Amino acid sequence: MTTIVKCPTCEKDVRWVPESRFRPFCSDRCKQIDLGAWATEKYKIGGSQQDTPPDEDSHSGLN
Ligand SMILES: [Zn+2]
Repeated sequence: MTTIVKCPTCEKDVRWVPESRFRPFCSDRCKQIDLGAWATEKYKIGGSQQDTPPDEDSHSGLN
């Protein structure tokens, strides 16, 4: 009996066997894509978020 898992990246069926070297990914490519996604998430969390409030310029003509 062979366990079948789904590739986290492309959701293709991957057989959980020693020959599937990149399991749970179907290929090295999908593995790299997933790792890249993780790196991107890290940058998002660590990076400076632009949280500038909207321009409050409405009082320019109401004085
Ligand atoms: Zn895949």
